[in-house]
Amino acid sequence: MQYGYEIVKDMINGMSHFMDERGIDDISELVGLSLPNLVPAEELNRDFKVIPKIDLKKCVGCGRCYVSCYDAAHQAIDWDDKKRRPSINDECVGCHLCLNVCPVKDCILPGEIKWKEGRTPVEVKIKHNYV
Ligand code: SF4
Ligand code: SF4
Repeated sequence: MQYGYEIVKDMINGMSHFMDERGIDDISELVGLSLPNLVPAEELNRDFKVIPKIDLKKCVGCGRCYVSCYDAAHQAIDWDDKKRRPSINDECVGCHLCLNVCPVKDCILPGEIKWKEGRTPVEVKIKHNYV
């Protein structure tokens, strides 16, 4: 979504290096290894969303979050053209695409947890370190 299909060449390159480093000769040795970490969609708790928060002091004004949210998410980021700074509006669904495309470490992090009306809040473990 961020770099287009050309990224596949880099991914193949990166995978080749990874396999060389670890002495893996055949990619079939890796197939399925992460399956135990997957959770079926119907088991996900959809009672809440985690709204990202943007640290405007760290923001470099690249606009990636705005473009990604506009084209591939929910048009939930408003863009101040003069200041070149983003702000999240009420359309945010908490998909965290913006958080993943931001090039600055810890500039966009998980923020407020919003529960759907009538749902009982429970403890939510949030991953804060994405590196
Ligand atoms: S979490 Fe998703 S919907 Fe919300 S601002 Fe980021 S990209 Fe847009
Ligand atoms: S992607 Fe990050 S650095 Fe770029 S405009 Fe958005 S918040 Fe700022």
